[in-house]
Amino acid sequence: MTIKTRFAPSPTGKLHVGNARVALLNWLFTRQQGGQFMLRLDDTDEERSTEAFADGIRADLDWLGLGWDSFDRQSARYARYTEAFERLRASGHLYPCYETPEELELKRKVQLSQGKPPLYDRAALHLTDADRAALAAEGRTPHWRFRLDHAEIRWTDMVRGAVQFHGANLSDPVLYRADGRPIYSLASVVDDIDHAITHVIRGEDHVANTAVQIQVCAALGGTPPAYGHLPLITGAKGEALSKRLGSLSLEFLRDEGIEAMAINSLLARLGSADPIETRATLAELMDGFDIGKFGRATPKFDIDELKQLNARLMNVLPFAAVDERLAALGLAGVTAAFWEAVRPNLGKLADLRDWWTICTEPLTPVIEEPQFTTTAAALLPEGALTPATWSQWTDAIKAQTGRKGKQLFLPLRLALTGQPHGPELPVLLPLLGREKALARLLGKTA
Ligand code: GLU
Repeated sequence: MTIKTRFAPSPTGKLHVGNARVALLNWLFTRQQGGQFMLRLDDTDEERSTEAFADGIRADLDWLGLGWDSFDRQSARYARYTEAFERLRASGHLYPCYETPEELELKRKVQLSQGKPPLYDRAALHLTDADRAALAAEGRTPHWRFRLDHAEIRWTDMVRGAVQFHGANLSDPVLYRADGRPIYSLASVVDDIDHAITHVIRGEDHVANTAVQIQVCAALGGTPPAYGHLPLITGAKGEALSKRLGSLSLEFLRDEGIEAMAINSLLARLGSADPIETRATLAELMDGFDIGKFGRATPKFDIDELKQLNARLMNVLPFAAVDERLAALGLAGVTAAFWEAVRPNLGKLADLRDWWTICTEPLTPVIEEPQFTTTAAALLPEGALTPATWSQWTDAIKAQTGRKGKQLFLPLRLALTGQPHGPELPVLLPLLGREKALARLLGKTA
């Protein structure tokens, strides 16, 4: 069997880390098994869906590296949903209902006040032809509910294990609206059948929908896919992530200098039994990925954890992965050696600019003891500076001045870089070059 999955966002907002997690886990699951991954836009909410959000979703997935093999959108498929509606109606699975939202709300309140679950009471099933004609004469157009089979609905969830519902504990779902538009549960089932989707991995807010969709799928003659429902991730304090939480959108994180692979590294393991480790490529994340290792506990997304991963990622990104981007940042002169020397000190790629400036632009050194740094300048070994120069040089300074440790290194660092912290001096020294190093040790702006 060829695995086929889909990521089905609604283009009604920007993708946030919760959406990205669902997309990534579907993608890893699929690619690991040589399957097909589809992008489907659930854009039947015409008031709230926009092309700008649709473009943003594609751009975000591209940025994460989550390519898709096929694309479809629900707004292009209304004819298929109408056909499915007609079939379900003809086979007696749908019945017309005339209640207004206010009437339904009132029923709900009464049920709740009686301590009963707020289930649709199926009143419309008992309408006679004459009742319906009278309602139509009042100008009411029906919406259509699916008559659930009052039987057990079971499946083995890829994340939750054995799941069980009873049809009698669920409301007959509305599948078709009075204005002739399909409801998500109908559209999604029709799509999953038409697109031959084999596995649906989505948020656990859809668990009850799945119970309904399994029956709708069977009524349409389809075979339900396998399902996996992931707990929704929350913010660090347990707050729900909503699409409107701009600060957790991928766009915001990207603008903050967070790398796509830092996000992927975090989301590919967050909430699973495996540790979170920094990986430079999606292929590496695929290694050992197992959807069965994801648990039911609510994972918390912590931006500080992501920032730490981002900093660690700098250390595993090869120069080839960043050189074009450095050029785009106006840092075309950066060499592989410079990248390797400086990357342990970066929180994000753009931080490299500070070190590039320190090493290449004139800088006024910080000198507290001119005598010491002048002595050090005189002891700088002859010949080309290499990473081996440092120990030779500092051994000589040690021998002459008796200094060691911080007393020896800090004045050198302050003179050479103007900063109390930074990249390893043995690698930085050759990158600075003899001329700059000597001038700075002697207190000159260079
Ligand atoms: N558009 C739905 C959502 O974003 C898709 C759910 C599904 O995967 O079926 O929640």
